[in-house]
This record gives sequence, structure tokens and C-alpha cells, in this order.
Amino acid sequence: MSLPCTAKAGKQPPKEIIAYQLHGNCYLNITWHCTLRCAFCPKYHGEWVVQGYDLRLLREPEVDEIIRAIGDPTAYKQIVFCGLGEPTLRLDTLLEVARQLKTTQPSTQIRINTDGLANLVYGEDVTPRLAGLIDELSVSMNAQNEALYIQHCRPKREGAFEAMLDFAALANKHVSTLNLTAIEGLEGVDIVACEKLCQQRGLNFRRRVLDIVG
Ligand code: SF4
Repeated sequence: MSLPCTAKAGKQPPKEIIAYQLHGNCYLNITWHCTLRCAFCPKYHGEWVVQGYDLRLLREPEVDEIIRAIGDPTAYKQIVFCGLGEPTLRLDTLLEVARQLKTTQPSTQIRINTDGLANLVYGEDVTPRLAGLIDELSVSMNAQNEALYIQHCRPKREGAFEAMLDFAALANKHVSTLNLTAIEGLEGVDIVACEKLCQQRGLNFRRRVLDIVG
């Protein structure tokens, strides 16, 4: 059964949290599958509770369940696809949810927090499909070079670091806001170097804090 986005952190963790509240936003947890196996990811340390929410799913929710779990989208600053899995691995479902939200409430602001590997996974440029449906992307860059990226993110596919940067450059044409992000304090990660690499590619950068969903 889907749960309302009004689930509050710190209470008895309900089962199958599809939607959860943080920072005045409604976050959507639609899959546990990932293209990365990040060494810093809580789920790879047996921990599925993030900021008071148990994000373990027993199955992937359908479009209507996700819409029901959101409730009233006007109650939130943003609807954010971000759980303990990569949301673009369910791109069709994600975009259909976004389409329905934009149709019923065009002012709804929608963001995806992503690993930026959708083009690598699907073998084509999917970024034009985001146009008009997704307002903002937060792309996990996580390192200033491929060696460090592999060390921390342990991608399942080759060429992931460059693919992520290429995705960001392409997607930047189709959304209003795109930020690449890296986590402050990860071994060897140079936040200034990450920012510089983004600047060289004409992309925005934002630093993140480990275990804080943003
Ligand atoms: S992309 Fe996110 S959910 Fe997936 S392994 Fe990395 S930190 Fe965990």
C-alpha cells in the first residue's frame, strides 16, 4: 500500500515509503536498483534508513501508486525523485508521473537526483525526453577524475565518469536548472577541482554533505 507524503521522520518507520517529506519537498522513492555501487551508500552497509525514513522497498511502485503517495503537489516546493536507488532506471514511469503532475498542476516543480548514467544505460540520448517535464537535475559527479569516481562509486559499466559528464552537458539544454554535485569529505575528493571541471564544461556545481539528502 502506498503511503502519503505526510509521513514524518522519527516516527515508527512505515513499510514501503514511496513518498517522504524533507526540506518542504516531497521526495519519491521508486526503485532500489542502481548502476553504481557507491562505497559510501548506506544500503551497501545494511542501512536503509535515511534521515529517519526507512526506504527499503518490497517492490517498485506503479504510476498511480506514486501519484497517490504524493497527494497534493501544491503543498511542496518541489517533487524530487530521490530514494535509495537510481530513479532514471525507471524512466518511463518517472516521466509519466511528471507528465500527470504537470498536466493537473502545471506549476509543479520537478527535480531528479540522478547518477547521470541514463544515456549509458539506454544506449541513446534520452535527455530530450526531459524537456517540459523535468525542471531541475542534480547529477552526482562525486569526484574530479575517473580513478576517484571508480574508487568511490564502483560503477557497473565502463566509461561511466565521462558518460555522466556528457549526460550533464546534454541534459543542461533541456532543463531550467542543472547542478553537478560532489560530497565534501570523501577521501581524495577535491571540491575545488570538481567545481573547476564543471566550469570548464559550462556546468553548475554544488557541494553536498554525506548522508544529507538534498
Ligand atoms: S547512486 Fe545513490 S542509491 Fe545508488 S549506490 Fe550510489 S549512493 Fe546508493
